[in-house]
Amino acid sequence: MSEDANHSLRALPAVDTVLKAPAALAAIDRFGRLETTRAVRAALTEVRRHAEHLTAVPDAEHIANAALAALVADAQPSLRPVFNLTGTVLHTNLGRALLAEEAIAAAVAAMRSAVALEFNLDGGRRGERDDHVRGLLCELTGAEDATVVNNNAAAVLLVINTLGNGREAIVSRGELIEIGGAFRMPDIMARAGAQLVEVGTTNRTHPRDYDGAINAATGLVLKVHTSNYRIEGFTKQVPARELAEIARAKRVPLVNDLGSGTLADLARYGLAHEPTVREAVADGADLVTFSGDKLLGGPQTGFIVGRRDLIVAINRNPLKRALRVDKVRLAALEATLRLYRDPDRLAARLPTLRLLALPAGEIAERGRALVPAVSGALGADFTVEVAPCSSQIGSGALPLEMLPSAGLAIRSLRAEGRVLDELASALRRLDVPVIGRINDGALLLDLRCLEDEAGFLETLRGLDTLREMDALRGAEVRS
Ligand SMILES: *Cc1c(COP(=O)(O)O)cnc(C)c1O
Repeated sequence: MSEDANHSLRALPAVDTVLKAPAALAAIDRFGRLETTRAVRAALTEVRRHAEHLTAVPDAEHIANAALAALVADAQPSLRPVFNLTGTVLHTNLGRALLAEEAIAAAVAAMRSAVALEFNLDGGRRGERDDHVRGLLCELTGAEDATVVNNNAAAVLLVINTLGNGREAIVSRGELIEIGGAFRMPDIMARAGAQLVEVGTTNRTHPRDYDGAINAATGLVLKVHTSNYRIEGFTKQVPARELAEIARAKRVPLVNDLGSGTLADLARYGLAHEPTVREAVADGADLVTFSGDKLLGGPQTGFIVGRRDLIVAINRNPLKRALRVDKVRLAALEATLRLYRDPDRLAARLPTLRLLALPAGEIAERGRALVPAVSGALGADFTVEVAPCSSQIGSGALPLEMLPSAGLAIRSLRAEGRVLDELASALRRLDVPVIGRINDGALLLDLRCLEDEAGFLETLRGLDTLREMDALRGAEVRS
């Protein structure tokens, strides 16, 4: 260290002096004395580490400001809202379905106060948490009985454990899927205590394959919606209705894991037809399992609907207690399910359907209105234009179905290859991170899921601050 630097370090203000600076007082007010003192010490340490590059000795106010900025940056919640401009509407890594306002209000009310969660208000006796949604689920699916657990993976685990523990579970080789996030059917079966019996081949499974495999040790036949892939060409599956007949003749329960499942006919909203839960029930499955936060558009939950005697057995399984949902999600779920009673207004109220049903023309029109402001925010190094693109539903629903959409295609006028990656990274560092995808030499922001346009433009203004910070940092490194 040079004599000069040594000298500057001796002139650095003491912690107590820094704590009296206005920015430090503001920090104490917001974050408390302990945290502020810690941040001030850290800021002083940082200055000492870079002493050689110092041209002037920072004063107390300067150190206090640095401490305050560090505290503010650190106070950003880790789990925070982002703009999902990926084009995947139900993005598992971005939290899947957005809840309807009705569901949000119900969840907030349940958070604030005591609720009659397991309490029967008529008789003043103990009630069951499923009571709040059982009737709605039966009404919307045509099933005899229903229960709710943490998610669909939990529903599948619970069903297989209840019907198949110490017994055999029959599945077609074409349906032994991995959903992602380590949800593999064979592993779930093993953990549920069932012995997997594979029938048929990857591409073809016949009625006689199931028929020949069912025996006295069979606990269940499982049909799985091959959510995230499709086998095409020379294929054969046994339709649910036919499989139900085979299972019924042998007195073995048939479970249909629909995965996403939907309570509404998507064809009504201009999408391809995805089997509804009602159809799966009508096709004769004894139990049907599906998710709450995929096409249904509610909070993360898993449903088991079907035969009453089987649901009773499931509710007696001690695992049910370990997989139950809390009052907040149950409140949001009940409010979401109620929206399905009015199909005419469903798409307007339920964000998932509203976003999926948006026509590409309308999205493009919104895009054109955004171009000037986005262009301005990005600066002269980039071009911005509206381009057609494809959104997808996500979460394994209609995996091959692409929804015509429109987005902002951002291209760099500079030749260096990493400019777009750097822009994508800067967008992810904004107060509300903006998440797009790089495609064909452009950063593409699919606008299907952008509802808060004003908030988006406001957030983009943060790029100026980021640029200033980067310039400062660059200057520090160079100096
Ligand atoms: C998504 C899916 C699951 C898992 O559901 P989660 O709600 O994510 O737990 C199970 N089975 C199928 C067929 C699925 O598509």
